[in-house]
Amino acid sequence: MNRKARGEVSAEELASVIAHELGHVALGHMRRRMIDFTGQNAVFVMLSAILNRYLPFIGIWIANFLASALMARLSRRDEFEADAYASALLIKAGIGTAPQKSLFRKLEALTANHSEGVPAWMLSHPKTAERIAAIEANEARWMPPLQIS
Ligand SMILES: [Zn+2]
Repeated sequence: MNRKARGEVSAEELASVIAHELGHVALGHMRRRMIDFTGQNAVFVMLSAILNRYLPFIGIWIANFLASALMARLSRRDEFEADAYASALLIKAGIGTAPQKSLFRKLEALTANHSEGVPAWMLSHPKTAERIAAIEANEARWMPPLQIS
């Protein structure tokens, strides 16, 4: 059985993860997340105050759900931006986006084995197919097919 079949991570795939993390740093996502967190708390406090008046007990739960959903949307945007940053870096480095996409597929295969439900952290992450589609769309924009004159 070769490395690929065992689901091992290659050096190029590891580079794609590092490039993705670099993207979060370079694009200022950590700073933005701290601001988002404050905003989320403000939304939660306001919503729970209003909802609790009309829906005792369940009001706080709904407020928490809505505030979390808002946060998940914001983190999805960050993930797509970091993916795009990583793609650009990998293309520039001559590695290309293939390892980025193959790693997503491996991660998906790993998590698919857990049939007892989707892990909580997956819910805040965009779906693998969506992330691969976004990478391919960027690729098409940045790497037009060679024109032969
Ligand atoms: Zn990320």
